[in-house]
Amino acid sequence: MSTNVLELKNIHKDFGTFRALTDVNLNLEKGKIYGFIGKNGAGKTTLMRIISGMSLPTSGSMALFGKTEAGEICRERARLGVMLEDRGISPDLTAAQNLKAQMLLKGLHDDFLIREMLEIVGLTNTGSKKFKEFSLGMKRRLTLAATLLSKPEFLILDEPTNGLDPVGIKDIRDLLLRINREHGTTILISSHILRELYEIATDFIFIDSGEIIREISKEPLNKRLESKTIIRSREMGKVLDALRKHGLDAELTVNGDTITLSGNGFTEEELGVILHESEAVLLEFTQRRETLESYFISLIGGNSHA
Ligand code: ATP
Repeated sequence: MSTNVLELKNIHKDFGTFRALTDVNLNLEKGKIYGFIGKNGAGKTTLMRIISGMSLPTSGSMALFGKTEAGEICRERARLGVMLEDRGISPDLTAAQNLKAQMLLKGLHDDFLIREMLEIVGLTNTGSKKFKEFSLGMKRRLTLAATLLSKPEFLILDEPTNGLDPVGIKDIRDLLLRINREHGTTILISSHILRELYEIATDFIFIDSGEIIREISKEPLNKRLESKTIIRSREMGKVLDALRKHGLDAELTVNGDTITLSGNGFTEEELGVILHESEAVLLEFTQRRETLESYFISLIGGNSHA
């Protein structure tokens, strides 16, 4: 049996004469966390809206939890948790009242779950404060809590940490990782904070001008993220001898008292041993890895604004 939660085939979306999505083909597997990356206007929200049933594709087909017929897909959408905007949240209700209203809409009644959710997203102390009086970060947290109420199997989150402070961002990250670990929840998440996405995602989908330009899992991505090592010493001869002894001639460039090693297969620890053997006094020894952000920029050819 297929473990795909979602299969998209040849999805196109036009707004009048403007083509927002071109031939999107994607398979999302159960239990994975997909980081969805693209510049402003690349088509992320448009695709998420199509998956969620808030917009129809101009052409193309989809299978959601293995179901392909329109009526069946509609029913399967009950298993989705979608956070695209502050949809369904009433500005004049408090946090608890809003969650209660969401539950009633689903025919549910569970005060314990409401308290638990408020605790999980850190909104227990908001009392009689109404949603419209919330800060942006508080609004994001409550919208996320409302999305999680029905314990969805597949979460679609469009910039869920937008407007959150660093602690809030970490809280949401820990929460999503926990849900994924404990319930095997599949997550499709977009964010412009690529450092965050790197921490949470198992797989990355890059979109540019409406086209999926790359899909890559974290392990192969890590292999591609080149590491750079900087070594500074006044005893260059000793350092160079040691590095060359280990066959590192091709990877090194020398500039004054600084040696840069790029893309070598050695770990920081292994290089540390080699440098220790050289008996040279070091002024600096640091290893830096290319980031998801620089990878994205090189992929789209310079102009980022992810
Ligand atoms: P952001 O990171 O800024 O949220 P995004 O990747 O989510 O961007 P979309 O909102 O999907 O981008 O927009 C993709 C393109 O489709 C944009 O050029 C946008 O202007 C256009 N677009 C989206 N919705 C509509 C609409 N209802 N009518 C016309 N054009 C639209």
